[in-house]
Amino acid sequence: MEFAQSDKLADVCYDVRGPILDEATRLEAAGQRILKLNIGNPAPFGFSAPPSVLASVVDNLASAQGYSDSKGLLPAREAVVRYSAGKGLAGIGPDDVYLGNGVSELITMSLQALLNNGDEVLLPAPDYPLWTAVVCLSGGRPVHYLCDESAGWNPDLDDLTSKITPRTRAIVIINPNNPTGAVYDRPVLEDLIEIARRHNLMLFSDEIYDRILYDDAEHHSTATLAPDLFCVTFNGLSKAYRLAGFRSGWMVLSGPRQHASSYIEGLNILANMRLCANVPGQFALQAALAEGGGAGDLVLPGGRLREQRDTVVKLLNDIPGVSCVPPRGALYAFPRIDPALYPIDDDERFVLDLLRKEKILLVQGTGFNWPNPDHVRIVTLPCVDDLTDAIGRIGRFLGAYAHI
Ligand code: PLP
Repeated sequence: MEFAQSDKLADVCYDVRGPILDEATRLEAAGQRILKLNIGNPAPFGFSAPPSVLASVVDNLASAQGYSDSKGLLPAREAVVRYSAGKGLAGIGPDDVYLGNGVSELITMSLQALLNNGDEVLLPAPDYPLWTAVVCLSGGRPVHYLCDESAGWNPDLDDLTSKITPRTRAIVIINPNNPTGAVYDRPVLEDLIEIARRHNLMLFSDEIYDRILYDDAEHHSTATLAPDLFCVTFNGLSKAYRLAGFRSGWMVLSGPRQHASSYIEGLNILANMRLCANVPGQFALQAALAEGGGAGDLVLPGGRLREQRDTVVKLLNDIPGVSCVPPRGALYAFPRIDPALYPIDDDERFVLDLLRKEKILLVQGTGFNWPNPDHVRIVTLPCVDDLTDAIGRIGRFLGAYAHI
């Protein structure tokens, strides 16, 4: 008797932890040292959370034993309201805030509450692939709008507009973007919002990297520029606060909620069904937002994240046929590998061969729903020495690959 998986999983794909990671785990079990540049998880690379946040969780552990309200502890939701107000989002209250076991759970709830079979959602290509996976799992159809590498990975708004159909329900914006590191300037966001306005579309804005910005990048929260549109904004503690293991995130509804009462009822059903987000993570959230700093000095000149980003960009661009748009935010680089020099037909195979030969684990670009096998994503979290070693090995591997 064979127990088969659900048909609902037919198009669901999440390559950040895909079969190549399984191979890396096998190689590690066999005693090999693998440099993992595949997951944006700060803590294992020596990025610790602010001590005050950890102390607060310990102090509050005894009070964190029971379930909370489904949407989350009131003081924690009030902390999110204050954070949002600090970013310029007016007119929301604790009732508009939902806490989740990471942004991941909230992405799932927000799409499951919305989509009927065949409904379409516009997603960036490349994207953080959970968004595409959850659209599929919810019965929807992901439709990808291209981001333009030659224009700093900004969204191609003509492409986006051409893909709107009567079935389109929402536009997803990931800003700062994973995997490209793009941070959208205000006029770009305003143009995108105008398209949503004209076509009466909901906006989902994933802003989990809003506090990891380099150089002069400035983050504009989509909802603050679209007070007349129904927006859902996502953020959490996993990245700037280095607390991915605490599974703590939030989602804020804004704009004309009166036109979304049925959707909000659906969200409440889903929030009730999963009972609540883990409560120690809700205490962490209060302490983290009170502490305020986010990535702080790490992204300033001389800061560790900034130096690592600079190292990655320089070393990648030094490899013949490799080009990397400098990321303005987040924790990744998404270089192009010129197909004229390196004829990669199958980028999953390429990444697997790289792993076996050079013991470096990356994720292939198509894993982020990029349409061509000519990009990879590199996490910029390891120390400069490890990144230098890793990119040296990538260059060596490519040198041999060019002649295969
Ligand atoms: N959104 C983006 C753009 C991400 O890159 C990630 C994690 O890498 C998530 C959401 C998920 O975050 P969380 O740890 O809060 O579930």
